[in-house]
Amino acid sequence: MLEVEGLSVSYGAVQALTDVSLSAAAGSTTAVLGANGAGKSSLLRAISGIAPIGAGCIRLDGQDVTRLSPQARARHGLAHAMEGRRLFRQMNVEENLRLAWSFGARSTPWAAALEDVYARFPILAQKSRIASGLLSGGQQQMVILSCTTIRSPRVLLLDEPSLGLAPLIVRQIYAFIAGFARDSGATVVIAEQMASIALQVADRGCALRRGRVALTGTATELLRGGLAATYL
Ligand code: ATP
Repeated sequence: MLEVEGLSVSYGAVQALTDVSLSAAAGSTTAVLGANGAGKSSLLRAISGIAPIGAGCIRLDGQDVTRLSPQARARHGLAHAMEGRRLFRQMNVEENLRLAWSFGARSTPWAAALEDVYARFPILAQKSRIASGLLSGGQQQMVILSCTTIRSPRVLLLDEPSLGLAPLIVRQIYAFIAGFARDSGATVVIAEQMASIALQVADRGCALRRGRVALTGTATELLRGGLAATYL
């Protein structure tokens, strides 16, 4: 369970978020929507502890983590796949996965965790010995999602998972996210500009406009309301 209450974030004179509140239940998926610069990344970064919080609070499973370091929040089961596909590019696929697994709860033995990744993304089994930096953008996104989920997070933050990817790959990536959300019971929050695709897997959505919550509702309500045309 993730709760954000009255959150404000600013970078010097730039006010990125003002009085943002959000509640996401365990086992639910929430889409954070909004145009370029609306504040989506700042919200995720504040939740994981890497953006400066001016006011408000963040609770994970009822515990106030607002003043905790990113590392301490990670120990509370929070994982954040940031925008921009950050991987150890010289390391091969399996080495990246192994490293991510070693930092997690390790509730699943390594061999079983690896088998699960390869079952979900068979192409990664074929590329297991290839340096990650040499993979296509879609394959790198698969490695990042696998590295983030192999740690068995209780709260998973995904920033623009579809960015720059072909439609077919976006569908695969979102099928993976939906599968993880269903099987893990984790709280999943996805920041995404492509409202229609995120709302297909989300239970609820929250649209930001100029750093404020412009609209919240169930995914069905937001899709029916023609959210993209009206609010973004
Ligand atoms: P995008 O999709 O482009 O990443 P976003 O919705 O994620 O957009 P943010 O990246 O959170 O939005 O940016 C919100 C506002 O904060 C924007 O005005 C942006 O220019 C500003 N901003 C973000 N990061 C910084 C920073 N490190 N320093 C100064 N201003 C920043």
